[in-house]
Amino acid sequence: MRARLVAGNWKMHGSLAANRALLDAIVAGVKGVECAVCVPFPYLAQVAERLQGTQLVWGAQNLSEHASGAHTGEVSAAMLAEFGCRYALVGHSERRQVYGETDAQAAAKFVAAQGAGIKPIFCVGETLEERDAGRTETVVARQLDAVLGRCTFGDAVLAYEPVWAIGTGRTATPEQAQAVHAFLRKRVGEATRILYGGSVKPDNAAAIFAMPDVDGGLIGGAALKARDFIAICEMARRKD
Ligand code: PEP
Repeated sequence: MRARLVAGNWKMHGSLAANRALLDAIVAGVKGVECAVCVPFPYLAQVAERLQGTQLVWGAQNLSEHASGAHTGEVSAAMLAEFGCRYALVGHSERRQVYGETDAQAAAKFVAAQGAGIKPIFCVGETLEERDAGRTETVVARQLDAVLGRCTFGDAVLAYEPVWAIGTGRTATPEQAQAVHAFLRKRVGEATRILYGGSVKPDNAAAIFAMPDVDGGLIGGAALKARDFIAICEMARRKD
C-alpha cells in the first residue's frame, strides 16, 4: 500500500510574514496524511524551524547537479541536506521550459539529490502541442528514462504534471491522469508514489485522488491558500 503524499510548490511566492501565517494554519489544519512544502531557498531556514516537531516536512524547488565549485547562484544537494531537507522538486516544467533544463540535467539533479539522502519529486509532463500530436507517452517516457538509464528510482516520488494544466486552471480529467499514471507505473513499479499536478483545487482533488494509480498531488497555486491546501490534504487522507 502506497502512502499518499501531498506536496505544495510555493514557486517564487512568499515573505516572512506570509509564510508564518500559512505555516501556522497548515500545521494546525493538516492531519493524517504525509505533507511537504517546497519553498524558495531563502525561506528554508524559517520553514525548517517552524516545521520542526510537526508532521509536515519541507523540500526545495531545485538543486544543482554539481557537488561544489564555481557555480554562482546554485545550491548543492549537500547544502540542502545539512538543513534537513527531505524532498526536492526535480525537472519541474518551469525549470525545463523557462530555464532550458535538459533531460540529462534533470537526471543528474535526481542523482545528486538521492546521493545526499534527499528524495527527488521528479516531474514529467507533455505540452498541449505534444498531447494533441499523440506524443504524451513518448515524451513522459523519454523524460523518465533519462533517470532510469542512470539509476533506480528507489524511494523517489514521480509527479505527472501536464504542462497545459499547470497554473492554467485547466486540469486533466481523472481518466486522463489515470491513463498516464498507469503508463508510468509500468516503468517504475508498484512501490513508487506517482503524484498528479496541474491546477488541483479542492473541487477537483477528490476525483483525481480516487484514481488507482494517483498517490497524491503536487499543488502549486492552491498551496498558497491555507484553506484550499488543508482541504486538498484532507481529500488525500480520506482516500483510505
Ligand atoms: C506546479 O507548479 O507544480 C503546479 C501543479 O501548479 P498549479 O497547481 O498552480 O497548476
